[in-house]
Amino acid sequence: MFMTTLVAAMALAAQSASPTQATHATHATQQPQQFEHVLVISVDGLRPDAIDGEFLAKLPAFARLERGPHTLDARNDPDITVTLPNHISMVTGRLVKGERGHGWTINDEPPGAKQGGTVHAAKGAYVSSMFDVAHDEGVSTCVAAMKTKFWTLIQSYSWTGGAADTVAPDYGNAKIDAFLYEDNTEALAGAVVDRLHRSKKRTLDFVHFAPPDVAGHSFDWIVAPDSKYFEAVKEVDRGLGLILSAIDSDPHLRDKTAIVLTADHGGGVPRKTHTDNTCPLNFRVPLLVWLGSDSASVDLLAINPERAHPARDQNVGPDEAVQPIRNADVANVALQLLHLGPVPGSICGAPVPLHLAPPASKPAG
Ligand SMILES: [Zn+2]
Repeated sequence: MFMTTLVAAMALAAQSASPTQATHATHATQQPQQFEHVLVISVDGLRPDAIDGEFLAKLPAFARLERGPHTLDARNDPDITVTLPNHISMVTGRLVKGERGHGWTINDEPPGAKQGGTVHAAKGAYVSSMFDVAHDEGVSTCVAAMKTKFWTLIQSYSWTGGAADTVAPDYGNAKIDAFLYEDNTEALAGAVVDRLHRSKKRTLDFVHFAPPDVAGHSFDWIVAPDSKYFEAVKEVDRGLGLILSAIDSDPHLRDKTAIVLTADHGGGVPRKTHTDNTCPLNFRVPLLVWLGSDSASVDLLAINPERAHPARDQNVGPDEAVQPIRNADVANVALQLLHLGPVPGSICGAPVPLHLAPPASKPAG
């Protein structure tokens, strides 16, 4: 019995050889398998009620992504319910405001990097991202987006903006290897699929689909079978279907690729926008984790009792000690799936990452 424990401990120690890998390896619940490829997907303006019940029945790809740990009652930033600040939260694991916030509030094309258009300039200090942690460990990284303001990420984490790689070997300051821009859902999904098929390294890709937000601003956030908004959600579902089919059909990707999906905000208050941060229609978002196969649906809230589980209409401020599951958790969920440690300076899912499986049963005796 002692030898078994010792061998297990040695194996754990070997896994924890690099300092960034240590934190996640020691937490007490079941660790998902180590994935070779992780896609973090943000669906701009996706309300949880659009991928639930009768609507989910019309969305075969979303239905597959709900076959795993997930919640339709995650939250976005408590103060700012617009696009770019929430996406900076997703990649940094921080909220916008407060002492440990990332400080990026602009929701428009950024100023040039030399004119202050980096997350670090907004914060007045370097702000690490999931790209830093993954890239420094030799993972190939990418941003694929349908809005040009995501260039903010490239300005912040390119070879001019990114931090030195202090983990040997040195993979350099550029933390994001590729930026893909498409204004069309199918083209963006195709570009993502192409990159996955060609990948020779492990990958971490951040993918942004815009159509539900675009439809919402033009025709309002109307969750109904024949609404323009739901048409846009179905369009994203077809894009997700292309990605899932590519994973299914490629032995280099099948069972080795995980998907983490969330949204920056919902929408509809005020009409045709989403700026009221006190309204549940704006602040509730989905968070889905697909662990490489259509497994059991698991309630992410139920298996994370340490987190706040506020009433559906209750916003939770950034200074509350116990935070709900937020879209900003996805950075550390993605790193956990790659078996890497959390983003330095992050507060969502760090130091204790979200549990993605029920607690491991204690051995007898
Ligand atoms: Zn919007």
